[in-house]
Amino acid sequence: METNPDVVVIGGGPAGISAAAWCVDLELSAVLIEEGETTGGQLLSINNPIVNYAGLEAADGREFAAFLHKWLEQFAFRRMLGTRVELIEAEPLLVRTEAGEEFRPSAVILATGVSRRKLGLPGEDELVGEGILRSGAGEREEAKGKHVIIIGGGDAAIENALILSEHAKRVTVVHRSRDFRARPEFLERAKTAGNVEFITERYVTSIRGEDRFEGVDVVGPDGASVSIEADLLLIRIGFRPNSELLRGLTELDVSGYVKVDANSATSVPMIYACGDVANHISPTISTAAGMGATAAKAIAARLAERKKFRKFE
Ligand SMILES: Cc1cc2nc3c(=O)[nH]c(=O)nc-3n(C[C@H](O)[C@H](O)[C@H](O)COP(=O)(O)OP(=O)(O)OC[C@H]3O[C@@H](n4cnc5c(N)ncnc54)[C@H](O)[C@@H]3O)c2cc1C
Repeated sequence: METNPDVVVIGGGPAGISAAAWCVDLELSAVLIEEGETTGGQLLSINNPIVNYAGLEAADGREFAAFLHKWLEQFAFRRMLGTRVELIEAEPLLVRTEAGEEFRPSAVILATGVSRRKLGLPGEDELVGEGILRSGAGEREEAKGKHVIIIGGGDAAIENALILSEHAKRVTVVHRSRDFRARPEFLERAKTAGNVEFITERYVTSIRGEDRFEGVDVVGPDGASVSIEADLLLIRIGFRPNSELLRGLTELDVSGYVKVDANSATSVPMIYACGDVANHISPTISTAAGMGATAAKAIAARLAERKKFRKFE
């Protein structure tokens, strides 16, 4: 078992997959570590068609992931699935998995993506599948004739309000501020849908229901609490970068995204980051795959330079 590969790639979404494949193509040994039971990352939960990746279309994210898996078969690198990385150290580089396996690679590529932001309220995890929806598009049938609350004010919240309004009796969008970040055309369509209402400047303070979701309590600027009863809840309040492994090690921006240069290099030598975890401006499959390739190429160049230098030592 190789414990000193050239590169350890953490995360098996489009960025990590691309990085690992490029490492092999550049004759670098690579180990890819993915927490999930299969690679694909966010692709595995995308229900919309993928039509914006150059030259390749898919009916949904799972089909796109299947294309990537097929393509990946030709690249020989160790894949560790169902394995979470819990620690990265610098100088010397060390990567440790939750199971205690340690690697001392020449470079690390962090490609851990983003996770959906949570409200942090009791019931939020427990009632998923019991009235709290995972996906508006994927579970739209469940909304037939029901009252759905959607929390959030960005594209995802309003797009889901539009999707669910076609099936639900009533959709209530609860948003913490007065202004919406969502595209004006989404908002316009939602406002004219007839069964979508907006409650703004209200914070959700609790999720009600013991074994099944029953409603939420919201508080406004005057401090008064109001209960809203509903059958279903969808929470779409944005994403947070999975950058904890680099916290205190490399530079992060105020939102926790990893700061990288044009080579996907972080502020610490031989630690690279690519994909959504280092890119809040244009989080797409194309950019993730591109940044993965960039990181692998930059590492290959650095290691070749090092070898050349050593010859003269
Ligand atoms: C609903 C939705 C629709 C979208 N539609 C499109 C679209 O049409 N076109 C488009 O281009 N993009 C789309 N995207 C965005 C696209 O999916 C992302 O930009 C892309 O998946 C980012 O890839 P990534 O590899 O950076 O991260 P991710 O896909 O998030 O993968 C990160 C991986 O890292 C793993 N991981 C995290 N922490 C650890 C750890 N400590 N140890 C081991 N593994 C870890 C995770 O399990 C995950 O598999 C969509 C996203 C969503 C949510």
